[in-house]
Amino acid sequence: MKILEGKKVIITGASRGIGRGIATVFASHGAHVAFTYSSSEGPAMELQNELKALGVMAGAYKSNAASFEDCESLVARVLEDFEGVDVLINNAGITRDNLLMRMSEADFDEVIATNLKSVFNMTKAVQRTLLKQRSGSIINISSVVGVKGNAGQANYAASKAGIIGFSKSIALELGSRNIRCNAIAPGFIETEMTQKLDEKTVQSWRDAIPLRRGGTPEDVANACLFLASDLSSYITGQVLNVDGGMLT
Ligand code: NAP
Repeated sequence: MKILEGKKVIITGASRGIGRGIATVFASHGAHVAFTYSSSEGPAMELQNELKALGVMAGAYKSNAASFEDCESLVARVLEDFEGVDVLINNAGITRDNLLMRMSEADFDEVIATNLKSVFNMTKAVQRTLLKQRSGSIINISSVVGVKGNAGQANYAASKAGIIGFSKSIALELGSRNIRCNAIAPGFIETEMTQKLDEKTVQSWRDAIPLRRGGTPEDVANACLFLASDLSSYITGQVLNVDGGMLT
């Protein structure tokens, strides 16, 4: 069964990592996928072709999630190209890790703008369409770090905790119009973002995981699939941990 047959989806930051995993899993379940990237044009074009080969509509758009104007014009273009949107996945994110003592104002501002303000930008941009059609699912990618904090990631943790508060508020605001909004809190997922960490840190993360392995982009994508589909039609305002039991 193709769970998302014909659904139109926007995913931010899908040129690699978790976003790419979500795009591929969604397309294999029949979804038409519009996705963004920031600079990885080659990988984005490759992904666009891979998705089209699965028999769905696919579009790669260069768009800075941190920019309100970019998000407005992106959504306008997608609405023209795809004639609608049913699901929004706010996935784009960055890290600029440092202890507070060494964290610059620019590192703080950039992480908040890319990880948190982007969620506001994109949700605002799709809101009118979802309200008109009285349906929609918004999924925001937070992090275990947003739930429990992490030394050296005050900027990132603040952005990811902010996403949780934002998601719950939007669930309350838009629930009466049958628009759902949930967050996913991935734990340690093996992507380029976590490849930057030193082996000692990686081992300490792994030791804290009851399932004794890092997650894959597909692990997160499958949780998104559930929250995007009608299988979760009575679930909103929640944070789903996809972390191998880390927060247990
Ligand atoms: P990643 O491998 O570094 O990929 C990040 C993606 O976001 C890329 O496609 C990148 O595009 C895009 N991006 C970055 N800045 C952008 C911007 N300003 N506008 C639009 N797109 C932008 O990261 P990941 O590990 O897949 O993480 C994806 C999400 O999951 C992030 O929100 C991250 O915080 C969250 N997360 C990850 C983990 C983990 O363990 N990996 C755990 C918890 C939460 P380009 O390729 O063009 O740069």
